[in-house]
Amino acid sequence: MAARSMQYLDELNPAQREAVEHLDGPVLMLAGAGTGKTKALTARIAHLLNTGRARPNEILSVTFTNKAAREMKTRVGRLLGQPAEGMPWLGTFHSICVKLLRRHAELVNLKSNFTILDSDDQLRLLKQLVQAANIDDKRWPARMLAGVIDDWKNRALTPDKVPAADAGAYNNKGVELYAQYQTRLRELNTVDFGDLLLHMVTIFQTHQDVLEQYQRWFRYILVDEYQDTNVAQYLWLRLLAGAHKNVCCVGDDDQSIYGWRGAEVGNILRFEKDFPGAFVVRLEQNYRSTPHILAAASNVIRGNENRLGKELWTDAEGGHKVKLIGHWDGEEEARWIGEEIDALVSGTSRLAHGRKNVRSVSSEQESERRSKSEYNALKQLNLQENLGTSNLPEDQKEEIRNKFELDEIAILVRASHQMRAFEDRFLTIGLPYKVIGGPRFYERMEIRDAMAYFRLVVSPEDDLAFERIVNTPKRGLGDKAQQTIQMTARENGVSLVDGARIVVEQGLIKGKGGAALRQLIEGLARWNAMTRGPRIEVEDDSVIDDGAAPMRFGAPEHTHIELAQIILDESGYTTHWQNDKTPEAPGRLENLKELVNQLDNFENLQGFLEHVSLVMDNEKESDGAKVSIMTLHAAKGLEFPAIFLPGWEDGLFPSQRSMDESGIKGLEEERRLAYVGITRAEEVCTISFAANRRVFGQWQNSMPSRFIDELPEDHVEVLTPPGLYGGGQTSAGIETRAAEANVYNSPGWRRLQARQGQYGMSQPKETRNTVIDATALASFTLGERVFHQKFGYGGVIGIEGDKVEVDFDKAGTKKVVARFLSAKDD
Ligand code: ATP
Ligand code: MG
Repeated sequence: MAARSMQYLDELNPAQREAVEHLDGPVLMLAGAGTGKTKALTARIAHLLNTGRARPNEILSVTFTNKAAREMKTRVGRLLGQPAEGMPWLGTFHSICVKLLRRHAELVNLKSNFTILDSDDQLRLLKQLVQAANIDDKRWPARMLAGVIDDWKNRALTPDKVPAADAGAYNNKGVELYAQYQTRLRELNTVDFGDLLLHMVTIFQTHQDVLEQYQRWFRYILVDEYQDTNVAQYLWLRLLAGAHKNVCCVGDDDQSIYGWRGAEVGNILRFEKDFPGAFVVRLEQNYRSTPHILAAASNVIRGNENRLGKELWTDAEGGHKVKLIGHWDGEEEARWIGEEIDALVSGTSRLAHGRKNVRSVSSEQESERRSKSEYNALKQLNLQENLGTSNLPEDQKEEIRNKFELDEIAILVRASHQMRAFEDRFLTIGLPYKVIGGPRFYERMEIRDAMAYFRLVVSPEDDLAFERIVNTPKRGLGDKAQQTIQMTARENGVSLVDGARIVVEQGLIKGKGGAALRQLIEGLARWNAMTRGPRIEVEDDSVIDDGAAPMRFGAPEHTHIELAQIILDESGYTTHWQNDKTPEAPGRLENLKELVNQLDNFENLQGFLEHVSLVMDNEKESDGAKVSIMTLHAAKGLEFPAIFLPGWEDGLFPSQRSMDESGIKGLEEERRLAYVGITRAEEVCTISFAANRRVFGQWQNSMPSRFIDELPEDHVEVLTPPGLYGGGQTSAGIETRAAEANVYNSPGWRRLQARQGQYGMSQPKETRNTVIDATALASFTLGERVFHQKFGYGGVIGIEGDKVEVDFDKAGTKKVVARFLSAKDD
């Protein structure tokens, strides 16, 4: 390739430039967030190509996500002024290893068309082995074995290499079962995820010729986010780079957030030992964030003992302090963020006043920005020009300058179940959003499955719902069995549920499948009956004059929230995910819990189902800019002008698990995650917490995250939202309310209250009976007369959380959700 302009070098600072131009031998770039590691790595690829050192297929470049890989390819193309051709070896560890393994499968006794095992099958396979070994899988769940095996694979240990210290794993049977599992996988010509790397390491270790071939082939090796590599990945890299040692790794020990998946931050420290004479570059200038944001992030990460310790600086000036705000509950937090996003987009947000004066945007940054969103940059330029010539009043010009685009804004959550509140809110107000790294809440598999169960319980003729769940979880009702049900239903002109009932009665499906179908059908009938109370014979049937027996039902025995849980449990759906050992399974269970929580906002299942179909229908797919919602883990390496970090509460962030653990390891990883979160922000970083969150349909008080205490006061501005939240209310008012509603009368709540002034926690809204007001709980007092749309008038006889027990004049005693009540004089 002929040498082209090397303008990309001019965009780098001297340290970056050194790292880029130091093409031969090992290079380690160890530097904090936003210092331009990825930028330098990309420039290095461009430089390798531009100087003719390597052809595109001779560069092995590993990134952490496929999205990052795509982005890097585009960026290289831009730096070179033409699309980067080829680059077949730019990808994730897994995507690269699949390609390699297909070429050499026979060396580990596989065929090149091997399949990659899905998690269901993987667990089933392990269960069979566990059973065959006569192990009590209640005490020793197969899931546990799966975890043990994964861990060994992450450490590049084949069964024969598992150290003696691990011999006791899984009731002393772990190693033996691991060996059997590997044999079985080979017989099935299949691999699991961990095998992709493990097999490649094995091949390289045992076939010198193959290794040498690739050592020659991959003349230059580059690795981004190096701090998150596990031992297997590390060995793989060391083997490939072993001969020429042209390997450049970039990382940040403070951003190591995959320890739970076997990543070893020690790999960074080992680098200099394994590659003696490595050229080590430290970058300290941060180009991403304003000084306040940087100071906040640096202060938080200082709380970790185990770190190499680096200081970051920026020559940017001005900018906004990190904003901190407390909310009454999670729903209010979502509502507030929705409103702030609207304000950011219209240029009226006080979070970002004077936005474009924050720093002078250098030409390099301007070109980066363009790559991120060509559209935004063009729009900005047009704006600048128009503003120059227009005779708008200065304050309006200011608003225009302050505008953010939706795709410049992101919400980063600790746990994916937090997303639901935002999605619901954004759907309601029509704010376009996308969920990065996963489908949106109501589109998730587990949510759709659960909803299908609910639909079927509410309306047994919903054939689509039946089709979805008849064999989910697996009941041994395959295609053939399902055809039998379909045919029977058609022949009798009935719904699939009724068809299935006939199938069961007539014994048309034999064996396990038949028994399971019977169980499902009986379950559906039982759950359906639970949506109503017992039938009541009514004497006074003056309303009904058609001669038919009056059909009235008493209050259901279970609330619809309990019913939902019963359905998920008795159908086997909860167990299905509990037994699943994929990394996603815990998240799916959390989402199911969140779904059940969500029901609390509705009177019954039906109302909830209507709500979901309405919000889903409202939503039109638009190609325009969207707000991003993602987990902190998924945000690694990314940057956004405005970031919202909600849910900073002990138990959520840091997670309960990390707090319960003895030792500081888990907590330190959470703190690194906090550092990753804050350092994603360029101009605006807003941290929030809520005093109350619903967990399992129960209100729980939460304390602000301990990480909030670690934010440096000088760089944080505590927001109190006047007006929006019934501002002007005194905290004495809150005390009365707390006393009324005993749920808030806990030590945790009192402590929170003491800190409330400090953190500017918002106060419950005065307004009653608005759909968005989840805090109506305290608005009622014992004995107060109230009105309910469905049950009419009555008197309050009890208050429990946001539920109010009312003795209705006509309908009798019922517990209803507070926000469906209004005071009688309303
Ligand atoms: P992270 O640790 O979060 O992955 P990073 O070190 O990889 O961060 P980059 O994403 O490469 O950092 O860069 C952060 C921002 O700073 C980007 O917008 C990038 O364009 C900009 N930047 C990097 N280096 C320079 C430079 N020398 N001059 C101007 N801007 C730069
Ligand atoms: Mg990066």
